[in-house]
Amino acid sequence: MARASSLKTLLLTLAVVAALLAVSAAAGLATLIAPAPSPTPTPASVATATPGADATGAPSQAPIDRLEVRFLDVGQADAILVRIGDHAMLIDGGNNDDARGLVAYLQERGIARLDAVVGTHPHEDHIGGLDAVLAAIPVGRIYLPRASANTVTYEDLLLAIATKGIPATNPRPGDSFALGDARVTVLAPSATAVPEGNDASLVLRLDYGARSFLFTGDAEAATEAEMRTAGLLREADVLKVAHHGSTSSSTPEFLAAVAPRLAVISVGEGNDYGHPAQRTLDALAAVEATVYRTDRDGTVLVTTDGTDLATSFETTAIDGSGR
Ligand SMILES: [Zn+2]
Repeated sequence: MARASSLKTLLLTLAVVAALLAVSAAAGLATLIAPAPSPTPTPASVATATPGADATGAPSQAPIDRLEVRFLDVGQADAILVRIGDHAMLIDGGNNDDARGLVAYLQERGIARLDAVVGTHPHEDHIGGLDAVLAAIPVGRIYLPRASANTVTYEDLLLAIATKGIPATNPRPGDSFALGDARVTVLAPSATAVPEGNDASLVLRLDYGARSFLFTGDAEAATEAEMRTAGLLREADVLKVAHHGSTSSSTPEFLAAVAPRLAVISVGEGNDYGHPAQRTLDALAAVEATVYRTDRDGTVLVTTDGTDLATSFETTAIDGSGR
């Protein structure tokens, strides 16, 4: 019986792969991801997380009474875990080499279900570990930009989405969804953004009580200017510094509009890119942001009750390569 069962699983897997390849050959891998339902940005939710009502029947994690945002130390990559109540969201999943450590970390933390997973853009240092997360932990919905990439890493992610049947959305600026008592709003990419490279990055604002976070992926100066022109930028308490502190992002105009009190740079020690750039550090100092870095501080935890902000640090063993 075991042999018949594994044969069935193998055939199912092959069928999924065949379907994936057929679709990608016909019209590009991105077509697997359904477009956002409405072409007009509205404040209406595109998805609402419902406590304890997971179609998979998986239990939720034990509730916490504050919002916790962890900028995980995944080396030269991004991965951010957001928790509130019994809800959880993962923004990016580190490099491919971080997958095992990331899944173990989430499971050890008791993350039994992720309401939302976000792949900011298809680069390996952001989506590398997401296929393993999707395979190991029930996920309510995955959010991806209208972007594509002809890489094995991206194909692995699409295959994991298809295999698990996870609803996928390409959100547009103005779309928003609830994460417990917090609200996540999409600021970028715009419909006119070139669907490749760093400027394809999903940019998300998270509001909880009077406090706010801005998650930027690797969005560069063009996206920053577009958000500013569209009137989407407001002040935010905590900024995930874009593109690991590269000079391609964090223009003075953008930082002046966001005016972050805290800025977190997700960056690998001794990386090949020279991230973060001194110019970016100077620009952050100019707006009087307190800067934390995963290469020096480890995992950065920002906690808030909606009024007060507290910062602490954790040592984690997630980074699989240090790159
Ligand atoms: Zn990156």
